[in-house]
Parts: sequence; structure tokens; C-alpha cells
Amino acid sequence: METFVITLILAGISYAHPPLQFEPVKWRSENLSVLPVPNSEIIEPLCQLNDTWIPSSYHVQIRVILDNAISGEQPFTARSLVEISFRVAQPINHITLHANLLTELTFTLTTDAGVVIPLGQPYFDPNLETHFLHIPLQRGNLEVGVVYRLEAASLATVFRDGRTSGLYLSRYFTESGEIKLSAATQMEAFHLRQLFPCFDEPALKAVFTLELFYEENYKALANGEEIGAPVDDNSLYLIPSPEPGLNGWVRSKFMSTVSMPTYLFAFTIAEFDFIEADAGLFHKQVRVWSTPDHIRNGYGNYSVNITAKLLDFFDDFFNTTYPMTKMDSAAITDKSSAMENYGLILYRTDLLMYSPRLSTEAYKNAIASIVSHEVAHQNFGNLVTCEWWSEIWLNEGFATYLSYIGVDEVAPEFRHGEWQINDAMQPALAYDAGPSTHPLRNDAITPAEIDRYFSTITYEKGSSINRMIEGFLTKETFQKGLILYLDARKFMSAVQEDLFFYLQQAAVEDRRDLTFPPGADVKRILDTWTLQVGHPLVRVSDTMNGAVLISQERYSNLPGSPDLWYVPITVAKQDSPPLDNHIPSFWLSNNQTNTTYEHETGKWIVLNIDATGFYRVLYDAHFTSLILQQLKLNASKIPALSRSQLLDDYFHLAYKGYVHLETALDLTTYLSQEDHFTVLEVVFNQFRKLYNFIEMEDKHVDRRQTFENEQD
Ligand SMILES: [Zn+2]
Repeated sequence: METFVITLILAGISYAHPPLQFEPVKWRSENLSVLPVPNSEIIEPLCQLNDTWIPSSYHVQIRVILDNAISGEQPFTARSLVEISFRVAQPINHITLHANLLTELTFTLTTDAGVVIPLGQPYFDPNLETHFLHIPLQRGNLEVGVVYRLEAASLATVFRDGRTSGLYLSRYFTESGEIKLSAATQMEAFHLRQLFPCFDEPALKAVFTLELFYEENYKALANGEEIGAPVDDNSLYLIPSPEPGLNGWVRSKFMSTVSMPTYLFAFTIAEFDFIEADAGLFHKQVRVWSTPDHIRNGYGNYSVNITAKLLDFFDDFFNTTYPMTKMDSAAITDKSSAMENYGLILYRTDLLMYSPRLSTEAYKNAIASIVSHEVAHQNFGNLVTCEWWSEIWLNEGFATYLSYIGVDEVAPEFRHGEWQINDAMQPALAYDAGPSTHPLRNDAITPAEIDRYFSTITYEKGSSINRMIEGFLTKETFQKGLILYLDARKFMSAVQEDLFFYLQQAAVEDRRDLTFPPGADVKRILDTWTLQVGHPLVRVSDTMNGAVLISQERYSNLPGSPDLWYVPITVAKQDSPPLDNHIPSFWLSNNQTNTTYEHETGKWIVLNIDATGFYRVLYDAHFTSLILQQLKLNASKIPALSRSQLLDDYFHLAYKGYVHLETALDLTTYLSQEDHFTVLEVVFNQFRKLYNFIEMEDKHVDRRQTFENEQD
């Protein structure tokens, strides 16, 4: 029996390379012990592999069984055989990689010359949270300069307990009410290790080649393009004891990916149909997949064409070439949101399917927004990947920021360039003043911490900081810096210092650095925005002496924070309309609590034009009154986005006790002449919040009276 299994495994990989002439040793992971870390001077830091491991490719075979079990196997399982090619950066006497919730683990190790390296008993790290599996060598070390091939067989679960991560079951109804099953993946941030053993970290990029075995009534999609049609395959060589003559199973082979992080590995198996983008929109195949009912009804038509347009637009914008040979997008019923997997973006169904007859414009807006976000990730995240999850804002802050630029291109009617202050900046300012805030560069180490930092700060504050950089560098220079960054780091990973280096290079080339505060460069400026929590409150007050006093402090109810920022200050004044760029008139430095700025008392002044700076502004009573007078006289003298932010600032300043609520409400008394949607959205949101406060207070009074009556 054991020999038979080995023969099958060897036969299975023989198409990819010559059979390996050795006997794998088999352990069942349920019997694996937990032992101290290996006897080596090189110890992995907590939950993060050290820099020893240099994987280059994964040849992956997976057989996915849904409800129709075959002999010798359980339903809802996935058996894998993976060959990982890797090198080491230093001699080491063991292999450490990730594995979680896997059983029937088997490992063999050879050099690329076919020399067998005997392995000892593998064991899990005593700190189970790490998901580390250590495989000691029986003797000697792995050596620098040698390519090793680790073959790992394992059995995984197709989750059907409601979770939507790893490889999991999703269900959908047909129009006739029939329930259909499908399988989908969600590997970000650390779930590929639940499908097969791997070096499961974002910087450890590799090329993935995949073969899938599945029942023939399904269609399989993966990162790479399918090579030919699915092949009838009765051998099912991953099975220990195949039924002779078993029919109805097929094998699909997919083209190798470009070098990519493990969390982008994806496939789906479903009874899906597709619609292809209109000819000429993009030079590679772009398709959207969903149920035959959806595709027949045309629900994929909108998203498939904007996907193609966005791929073309972002390639143009960043001077990049989308490196995969195709882009598929698939609609999955059970999914939390969407995932930007290279070549196969997976969306929750309602975020991809649009019906002009049944869907609202808000849905269409949401679809445009999320498609733009996921396509933007093809550069920010997929091509250049955050080196560790602490830098995840380099993926998510950019995809969020760029989604607005992308939607402005393909669906300008939604006016995302303006709407982003409602959608990103205002929620981020509110969250950033609360107890759950954290620095943009976070300190995530454990899986639980990594999950927690996919937050409003990472996405919306990250996006808003990017918009602020665009403001003080100018659009053209920011774009130039991003092009330099993507080109220098493509197919690699990055930390924020890489980004800052190329932004600084662009700033110097375009002489934008001449507008920086003395002694500052991009890194010094942005360190204050990415390493500190919170954001500034900028106060403006009259000195009665032909100048205003402008000061900064951390915006918070908690006094005494020593944090200061490099704050770019843009200004509009009663006698001088705002400029058409957002280059700062001056800066507050990170060692400077205040400065004076020449200004005629008796005339209004407004800071933070178009709200490009990530901070709130509080004017003294004198200037607040002058601004309100101008709003009533002719609101359009103050830019719309500044009006929106002024109201958002004042309502939040009132909630935090900086001003009376009456002051915020006073600023709404000009609204009869307001028609800009970014202002009205703030007003509706804040009035709704006030209504809820009042209603809660009324209910509280009611309850109290009831209680008092009962006491009588
Ligand atoms: Zn994203």
C-alpha cells in the first residue's frame, strides 16, 4: 500500500520533470509533535520567517472534491502535491515553512541535480500561532548556491463552516431555484498555508504553475490562462487507491504566473459562463464569469468593459505593462468583498453584477469603485508588494487612492475626484481620532494583528495621505515618482522608504523640493504622517497686528501629546482667490508649534484649500464669523471641497468639545444657496447623527419617566 502510494505520487509529477529516484517519508500531521525550535543559530523571529528562504517556484497539483466523494477520500477535501524550488541565503540545518490545518503531510527533499537529502521528523513550532513547520535534516546543512526541491503532499479541507478564507465552499441558486456548489479561494493574508505547505509571506515571491483535478461539470479558473481544454483523466494519481475506470473527472493545466506573493494564489471551480470585454478596450483577454443566468441577462456587461478600460488606463498612467496573459473576474456568492489575485479577481456577486433594470445608480457607483480598486492593485500590491504586513498601506492606501482616479476616467459622472473627501478623508479623520487608531506603518506580527490592520487607517487614511502628497508635490511630480518606484521595485517587494526615495528623486528633478520646509525631504515630511498616530488640529487666530497666528497640536481630547507634523498649509483669502494648485503657501515644521502669517484683520482667511491636507482647522470666533458672512454673501468664493471640510471639521470639533454645537449649526445657515454634493453629504450625515442623538435622548427620557411612574 505504501509503495503504491509512492508510485502514484512519482507518476503524477513525471510530466513536469523526470521521476525522482527516492522514497518519500510519510508522516501524518496529527501525529506530528510540537518540539522546541531547531538546534540552529538561526532562529525565526516571532511569526515571521527570517531572510534565509528564497523560494523561486511552486509546481502545484490539487484535486478538489466537493459533495461527490470518490473511493478512499472524504467529501469537501483538497489533496495537493507541491514541488517548491528554493535556495537558502545561509547554511542551515532545517527547513521552516508555513502549514496550518493540513493533514497527511509528506515531504521529500532533493537538490536540482537529483541528490536526495534525508529528512528527520518534522514538527510544529511550540508557538502554534506562528504556523511554522520545522523539517530538520538528518545531517549536515542546506548550502548557499544550491537549488533545492521540496516535494510536499498534504490533505486540506474545503471549508464549509461559513468562513470565506482559504479554499472554501460557496453556494448559489439558479433562476429555477436549484442550489449549485462552487469552490473559491481567499488567500490574503495568510491562508495559502491552509491549502498546502509554503513560504507564506508577501516578500517571498515565486512563480506558480497549477494543475487542477475536478469533476467535469465544473469550469476551473486560475491565475494563469488555461492551456488547452480540460483533459479526461482517469488516473487521478493523487488518490491512494483509485477506482479503476472512474469517469467524469478532468484535469486542467494553467500557464505559469509571473513571480507573485503567495497571498495572490487563486482558483475557482464553478458552473460558470462568461462575457468578454468589447474588442479594442484592452490588448489582452478580459472576461467576467458568473452563473449562466447572470451572463445571459447581461449582468456582467458593465463590469467587464470597465475592467478592460481600467487595465488600459493604469498601464498608460504608470507606464507599466499588465504582465499576465489574461484577466478574469468571477462573481462569488459567499465572499466578504473582493480580492485582486493576479489574473483572477474574485468579487462578491453584487460587487460585479449590474442590471440597468434592477440596480440603483449607487450600486453602479460601488461596482465602478471596487473594480477600479482591484485593477489598481495589479500595480500596487501585485507588481510591487508590501514587504511585510506592517507596510500594507503601500498596497491598500494606494489602491484606494487610485480607485478614485480610475473611476474619474471610466465613469466620470460619479465625480470620484471630489467624492473621495466624503468617502475616504472624512471617515479617516473621524476614525483616526478614536481609540482604535494606529500608525499607517503598523506593528503587525501575529495573524490576528495582521487581520486587525486591514483598517480605515490603512485604506482611507492611506488614500488621504496620498492625496496630500499629490497636493504638495503636484499631480505630475507624484505620478513621476510613482512611475520610478514601480519600475525600480517591479516583481519585488517594498517598504515605505523605497517609495519615499523615488518621490524625493522626482521632487528634486522637478524642483519641487524647493517648496519643502528647510531641512526637510519627502521621508522626513512623511515619517511624521506614517509613524505617528493621529493628525494635527491647526488653529487660526487673529493677532490684532496685521497677522494671524497659526498653530498645530494633536487633534484629540487628550492634552499633552508631544507629536507634531510637517503640515502643508494652503490659503485662500478674501482678496485673493485660491490658486489652481495645492503647493503649500508655507509649512508648519515638526519642531514648530506655531507661526504667524501676514493677513489683514477684518478679512476672512480659509486654510487647507480643497481639503488636501489631512488635518482639521479651527478658527477663532472672529474668523469663524467672517467666513460665515462670506458663505451667506456668496459661498462660491470659498471652494466647494473647503466648504465640505469646514462643516465636517466643525461638527466633529463640537462633538469633541472644542466649539459649541451652535457654532457648527450656525455654519449651516447659508445652506439655502448650497448645491455641491460633497457639502450636502456632510450635512445629511451630521444631521442624521444629531437626530439619532436627540432620539436617543428622548427615549432615555421616556424610559426614565416610565421607570419613575413604576416607582410610584
Ligand atoms: Zn485592496
